Amino acid sequence: MTGREQEGWGRRAELDAASTPAAAREGRPAVVCPRFDGVGADGAPVRLGIMGGTFDPIHQGHLACAEQAREAFGLAGVVFVPTGRPAFKRDRAVTDGAVRLEMCRAAVAGNPAFAVSPLEVDRPGITYAVDTLRALRHHYPANVELFFIAGADAILSIARWRESAEVARLARFAAATRPGFEVTESFKEELASRGAFRVDYFEVTALAISSSYLRERAARGLSLRYLTPDPVRKIIEARGLYRLEAPTTAAAVGGGKEAPWTP
Ligand code: NAP
Repeated sequence: MTGREQEGWGRRAELDAASTPAAAREGRPAVVCPRFDGVGADGAPVRLGIMGGTFDPIHQGHLACAEQAREAFGLAGVVFVPTGRPAFKRDRAVTDGAVRLEMCRAAVAGNPAFAVSPLEVDRPGITYAVDTLRALRHHYPANVELFFIAGADAILSIARWRESAEVARLARFAAATRPGFEVTESFKEELASRGAFRVDYFEVTALAISSSYLRERAARGLSLRYLTPDPVRKIIEARGLYRLEAPTTAAAVGGGKEAPWTP
């Protein structure tokens, strides 16, 4: 373990000890999630990862991605925030938010560096990152630097997210690429010309696994063992998710509204 990692782990243990009992003692509900609500309370600079995605379902690639981002950016922890109603997926059905939340919680259970927040699933309406980042920025003191981690495919569209200038101001971004996914210099220049986005790109080999691959396998009755943690696999099996007749898949919710932009 490197010195930076040790620092992260030591700091996290302190934060766990300092934050959760205080919120519970005062009977305050968690704003982000009980484990990481008190991050930054001591005024020291600290970085927190916010892992955004649909997670339909969460898999080993997402977990490896969060772990690599934690190491690479010296994050005190990573909060998984499953989207409620994704802004750019209004033309396809997405599994009910409560079920995706349940799978995320099952996936990270036992890892003190990870937690899950219902922030987006609980918020009514279409999910916009700007609302999430505002809520987080409002909650955390200025010494907490937010790193929004997501798939590069999602980050590539950042310039057309709602209130993109505000999005750029509120957080730094870590864009995970799959093997073979290339972000060209001309794209980076194009993005820079569209706003002050601070984006770091990093390749995650384990992201060769994808949620769509898991959904396809589940639909064909094939095994998900080793592709997602066992507790998640068991939820998928018990609920019969992703079978063609799956009962827990929510209806698609209308057409996209944001201005199109092809990088
Ligand atoms: P997504 O479909 O979940 O992800 C896009 C791609 O990136 C997929 O190939 C996905 O693989 C991969 N991926 C997903 N989450 C990842 C993660 N955290 N790390 C690494 N790879 C990941 O994308 P989305 O749900 O549309 O958007 C991702 C995030 O961006 C969400 O938090 C969303 O709210 C935000 N976003 C905001 C706006 C807006 O505010 N207007 C618009 C678009 C996206 P898998 O299929 O294997 O997961």
